[in-house]
Amino acid sequence: MKIICIGRNYAAHIEELNNERPSEPVIFIKPDSALLRNGNPFVQPDFSRNIHYELELVVKINKPGKAIPAAFAANYYQEISLGIDMTARDLQDTLKAKGLPWEKAKAFDHSAIIGTFIPKADLDLNKLGFQLVKNGETVQDGRTERMLWKVDEIIAHVSQYFMLKTGDCIFTGTPEGVGPVKSGDHLQGYLEGQLLVETTVM
Ligand code: MG
Repeated sequence: MKIICIGRNYAAHIEELNNERPSEPVIFIKPDSALLRNGNPFVQPDFSRNIHYELELVVKINKPGKAIPAAFAANYYQEISLGIDMTARDLQDTLKAKGLPWEKAKAFDHSAIIGTFIPKADLDLNKLGFQLVKNGETVQDGRTERMLWKVDEIIAHVSQYFMLKTGDCIFTGTPEGVGPVKSGDHLQGYLEGQLLVETTVM
C-alpha cells in the first residue's frame, strides 16, 4: 500500500507556516515503512530537533481506480480514520529553501500514524470536526468544511497521477495549530468526539 498526503489544504495552516496558497493540491507520498498503527509509541528520529504533529482526516481506498471523476470518488472508499502526519519541520524548512523534495522530512519510518478505521456510512465528510489533544490540551481543532479541496476532489486529482489501489490511504491535510513534540508527550486524535488515534512520543 502507499500513503498519499495532501499539503496546504487549510487556509489558516498555510498562513501559520507562511506558505503560498497553491493553485492545485500539493501531493507527496509516504512508503508503507512510514506506517505506525494506532497505540504504538512514536520514537523521535535522531536527524531532527523539531518534529511536528499534523492531525488529518484519512480515507482508505477500497478498490482500484485511475482518473476517477470527483462525482464517482465516493464509491472508492468506505472507511475513514484520523492520522498524524509526523513532520521533521527543521529538515523540511531546509529542503524547501533549497527547492528539494520533502521525503526525508515527511516520509521517514513511522511518520504516518494511522488510527482505527470507522465506516463512512452516513457521515458527511464535508462536515466533520476533529481535534488533536496533546497532554490533555486541545491544540488543533479542525472542520472539514474548511478544506480547500474536498475529499472527492482530492481523489479525482490524485488519481490522475497515481493509480489508487485497495488499501491505499490518503491524508487530506492538516488544519492550523501544528506544533512540536517532545519526549513523553501523549497525542490523541478525536473525530466527532470519538478517540481514533493516539500515541506516546519517545
Ligand atoms: Mg500534513
